[in-house]
Amino acid sequence: MNAFAKEISERSGQDLSRCYQCGKCSAGCPSVEWFDWPNHGVIRKIQLGAKDELLKSHAIWMCVGCETCGTRCPNDIYISQLMDALRNMALEEGVKPAEPAVMTFHQAFTGSVSRFGRVHELSMLMEYKLKSKDYFSDLGAGMKLFAKGKIPFMLPKVKGKGELDTFFKNKGKG
Ligand code: SF4
Ligand code: SF4
Repeated sequence: MNAFAKEISERSGQDLSRCYQCGKCSAGCPSVEWFDWPNHGVIRKIQLGAKDELLKSHAIWMCVGCETCGTRCPNDIYISQLMDALRNMALEEGVKPAEPAVMTFHQAFTGSVSRFGRVHELSMLMEYKLKSKDYFSDLGAGMKLFAKGKIPFMLPKVKGKGELDTFFKNKGKG
């Protein structure tokens, strides 16, 4: 196994040597049409050590982490974990994301969880809209959700916030 594949395996906890390219993961993935390669192709690229291609790919940002691939895989390989490892590596190495809006949303979401203990939709959406400068798309859907009380003003109350603070602090060190 090449050094890149070994590192991604270790970071993700997935045993890539078990993949026999059956394609069941790709057949069930709801996001595959936006990927550069189907899911089993992502695994093959890792096995081949195609680090640059993968870190610059759309696939690593378009995976929604639904875990359908993992539940379908006869060898218990969860591609969402691989995608997380690849995304983190891309950010660490300063690779420009192929899908900047997805990264902006990701940062707004995790920032909200880090501050409040769980996501506060209103402030998260405001942060996302300001940073992405995408002010008007989804406005209709947002207004409907707001009218139904699905986007509350009040900040969430969360038990055990200290544990979460420790988690984010340690994650920053890692
Ligand atoms: S379903 Fe599992 S074994 Fe089959 S190609 Fe996908 S990762 Fe490999
Ligand atoms: S976790 Fe990602 S790669 Fe797997 S099925 Fe869902 S969107 Fe596709």
